[in-house]
Amino acid sequence: MTETTSQQSEIESRNPATRELLGTVPVMDEAEVRQCVQRARRAAEDWAALPLDDRLAHLARLQDILARDSREIATRIAAETGKPRHEALFTEVTATCELLRTLRRHAAGVLRPRRIDPGILKTKRAWTVYEPLGVVGVISPWNYPFTLSMTPVVTALAAGNTVVLKPSEVTPLVGTVIEEIFEAARFPASTVEVVTGAGATGAMLVRSGVNKIHFTGSTATGRRIMEAAAETLTPVVMELGGKDPMIVAEDADLERAARGAVWAGFSNSGQICMSVERVYVPASIHDAFVSRVVELTRELRQGTDTDGDPVDIGAMITPAQTDIVEAHVADALERGATLETGGARRTDLGGDFFEPTVLTGVNHDMRVMQEETFGPVLPIMRVETEDEGVRLANDTTYGLTASVWTRDRANGERIASELRAGCVLINDHITGYALCDLPFGGVGDSGFGRVHGPEGLLEFVEVKSFVEDRLGLRAEPYWFPRLGNPLEVFARLNGFLYRTDWKDRVKSLFGGR
Ligand code: NAD
Repeated sequence: MTETTSQQSEIESRNPATRELLGTVPVMDEAEVRQCVQRARRAAEDWAALPLDDRLAHLARLQDILARDSREIATRIAAETGKPRHEALFTEVTATCELLRTLRRHAAGVLRPRRIDPGILKTKRAWTVYEPLGVVGVISPWNYPFTLSMTPVVTALAAGNTVVLKPSEVTPLVGTVIEEIFEAARFPASTVEVVTGAGATGAMLVRSGVNKIHFTGSTATGRRIMEAAAETLTPVVMELGGKDPMIVAEDADLERAARGAVWAGFSNSGQICMSVERVYVPASIHDAFVSRVVELTRELRQGTDTDGDPVDIGAMITPAQTDIVEAHVADALERGATLETGGARRTDLGGDFFEPTVLTGVNHDMRVMQEETFGPVLPIMRVETEDEGVRLANDTTYGLTASVWTRDRANGERIASELRAGCVLINDHITGYALCDLPFGGVGDSGFGRVHGPEGLLEFVEVKSFVEDRLGLRAEPYWFPRLGNPLEVFARLNGFLYRTDWKDRVKSLFGGR
């Protein structure tokens, strides 16, 4: 949680669970951002020239430090976000370690040069190599401030780029943590630069001449960044918002589905781009499902994470998001939804907390079913059939992840194939992001481009193509001067090469059609 002072020259970071002041960072101006980019640009040449094995050795040291110091790192992330420390450790530090491990295993295979089939030009040899882009600008959000910064940063580094990172102004001290761990892992100076500030500083980074922008954040900001990036033709990756649906089929394991909904709806206080934001349940199992979800929700422990008292759910990370959550719940209730549990702020807990909330009787006229709530709210909608659930699930401009819950594998796979999303899960949710060799990203308003997997690594390289003549003739037959009747020669050759029946091919060669 942050407050910008009246001069806008620095940002105060506070613990949203306790409101304790944690520190301040400067709001950098255009000249400072450009200096950071210049330093990263100077570092880029040496970093790109390092053999991949050497770059991966640096990443191995980083992985060791993260694994060794995970408690301390998680504690600092938890302080700035108000999330429980165990949650910060598991979802931010572990997720980054797993990505580092995956990169170290697979980067060489993905980045190796490739021989290319020369097609009809058999006298040529062709191949491609991947080259680093140069300096990558990473702009990250506040909900998983560590892992959503580290994911593009370490992937870009593995591919041979240097990075300028702009963490969210809501969680700027995570940027300091990141600077420290790269220093501890003895990365060359300026391979990772951190710039601090709010949206204006992010906008400066976009127009600073970096070779690519990797953005994770809201769809509205993504649009603004794309407009600005168009000026300089800077390529972008857009990891944007979501409105994830969960479909519970009639034959679902209700206990697992209810537990899954509560976990995927309320983890991180629902501040996850791929948290369950809508649940569709057939009438025949609706009441049983709702009653189990409500029971499990009431068992959740919410509060500040102190020693010996682990909680399940922490604070909201920023008051602006709590206002949106409150407005969505109020809008749903005004339009006839039923509040099954929760629905209010927990002012008694001292910080900025919102109760885990279950709504029923919801419909698609409500904001809570249309707009990203990004908070601990689980709206459950009764449907007549699974197919109606699929239709409603797809009634959104977003398409990040989605899930179907069923005991019938074939039916699950059928429904999964009909759901419009970058990642669909069967009898699970969120977990797609945890498989670091599985590409992750959205469709529609959830963005484009991928993190993780080979596709995620290839976002950070340019492909360079090579062609070499193998025969060394004095001239090629298709160079100048062209002999005879070139139109006829080329037409006959064309027929011979591309007619699909061999008799037609032979006929073409002799001038027939
Ligand atoms: P946000 O869009 O408000 O801010 C994200 C970052 O963009 C911040 O660092 C901010 O300072 C910067 N920024 C703001 N205006 C800018 C501008 N004009 N130019 C350049 N940078 C600018 O998002 P947020 O509120 O921090 O994060 C929540 C959003 O992120 C939600 O919509 C969530 O769904 C989305 N998100 C998506 C993913 C994903 O992987 N798809 C992951 C996490 C969060």
